[in-house]
Amino acid sequence: MRAVRKMASGKGNVSVVDVEEPTAGPDQVVIEVAAAGICGTDVHIVEDEFPTRPPVTLGHELAGTIAELGEGVDGWSVGDRVTSETYFYTCGRCLQCRRGRPNLCADRRSIGSKEDGAFARYLVVPSKNLLRVPDELPLEQAALTEPLACAVHGVLGVAGVTAGDRVAIAGPGPIGLLTLQLVRAAGASAVMLGTHQDSARLRLASSLGADAVIDVDSVEDASGAARDALAVDGADVVIECSGAGPAASMLLDIVGKGGRYCQMGLYGKPIVLDQDVVCYKELTVTGTNASVPTAWPRALELLAGRQVDGTAIITHHFPLEHWDEALSAVRSKQGAKVILTPRNGGAPGAKGRKAVDGVQPG
Ligand SMILES: [Zn+2]
Ligand SMILES: [Zn+2]
Repeated sequence: MRAVRKMASGKGNVSVVDVEEPTAGPDQVVIEVAAAGICGTDVHIVEDEFPTRPPVTLGHELAGTIAELGEGVDGWSVGDRVTSETYFYTCGRCLQCRRGRPNLCADRRSIGSKEDGAFARYLVVPSKNLLRVPDELPLEQAALTEPLACAVHGVLGVAGVTAGDRVAIAGPGPIGLLTLQLVRAAGASAVMLGTHQDSARLRLASSLGADAVIDVDSVEDASGAARDALAVDGADVVIECSGAGPAASMLLDIVGKGGRYCQMGLYGKPIVLDQDVVCYKELTVTGTNASVPTAWPRALELLAGRQVDGTAIITHHFPLEHWDEALSAVRSKQGAKVILTPRNGGAPGAKGRKAVDGVQPG
């Protein structure tokens, strides 16, 4: 099968190559991938700004159908519509694992960076990571469960956004737009900030319920405009989703005294911030790293119940072979979520003949 792989560490070194189709070991399943989202993390992997274990197939946001069951897998059948959590391995013994924070396990190996991921027709995952996709939710929207689970963990969990909060979000990319919808679903108001390059995404943010959108390149005092739009001296919560240093500075300006600052975007490098503001305003500064298991059912529920609209977020589709084009679409910032379609329109079903009669396909 074809797969988008990081072949070696260093900048670039990502290409579409042929690999063996995987088989399911004990307590694992093979998923036939219907849709796989490209994440900002994938771009960082291309740029060598995120740790990987090459050669490795990229892709950690997925939905598909079960194509093969490994020994001992209970409660699942070939053809079941599923999405999967991304931690292929966590130790289960360390302090963080025992605290229910496997995202912080030092030995964590996730699909798409340290284990083969979803930018291929098939991938293997532990069956304990599976979640059933409700019938009413199209698989390509179910592929948004992972980024939404990250947002649920960050916004509702770590930053604790709740009804009545006034929130400013920087960066109207896919995570920012999911965060926006989550903030609105939680009963909080939200202002979205972006640059001139984001104008299409800012329009999308408006249509997805932002109380105001601000193009920071087109106003004299963007921080003041954000505070005016929120009708407060300073926001209760600010959430940085852009991974751009100037956005972080601006949010430190917008957040009010006693407020909360939450970092969700990755910069990929050290940045300079005026940390004195954290003292003067007595801020609570938090960050989030991927997701925790409890965020997943909630994310799926929000998508299935349409409190978070996945349709509007997905703006591009590409077959695997058009990886370069897909990556350019992500980098252009013209759309929001870019989806790869590894199954390429083929009918879902058992993998080869193996799941049917146990014979290795030729
Ligand atoms: Zn992601
Ligand atoms: Zn651990």
